[in-house]
Amino acid sequence: MKDENCLFCKIISGDIPSTVVFENDRVFAFKDINPQAPVHIVIVPKDHIACANDITADNSSAAAACFEAIPVIAKELGLKNGYRVINNCGEDGGQSVMHIHFHLIGGKKLSERIV
Ligand code: 5GP
Ligand code: ZN
Repeated sequence: MKDENCLFCKIISGDIPSTVVFENDRVFAFKDINPQAPVHIVIVPKDHIACANDITADNSSAAAACFEAIPVIAKELGLKNGYRVINNCGEDGGQSVMHIHFHLIGGKKLSERIV
C-alpha cells in the first residue's frame, strides 16, 4: 500500500531522511521541514491514503491510529498547554502532498482564528 511516487511514502520507508518523533506499526510522525511554530510535526498513516476525501469505513482506522498517536507525541514534546491539529484537503484546502497527514502545531500561543 505504498505509492512509489509519493514523497511521504518515501519518508516513511526512509528513502528520504526525516527527523522522526514517533513511529509504530501504523503511524509515522516527523518534524516538518518548514515549521510554522516552535513545534510542527507531520503525522501520517503508513498506508497511503491520498486525502481526507478518500477516508472510508474500510480505512478510517488508519486515521484513528494517527489521532491515537497525537496525545503521545504531544506529551513527549511537552505541549502541556494545548496545540492545534490541522488537515489540509485538496487544492482549496492547500494540500501540497497527496498522502493524508495531520499537522500538529504548538509550542506557543497560536492565533485565535485561521479563517
Ligand atoms: P500540506 O501543505 O500538504 O498540508 O503539508 C505538507 C507539509 O509537508 C508542509 O508543511 C511541508 O513543509 C512539509 N514537507 C514537504 N516536503 C517535506 C520534506 O521533504 N520533509 C519534511 N520533513 N517535510 C516536508
Ligand atoms: Zn504515500
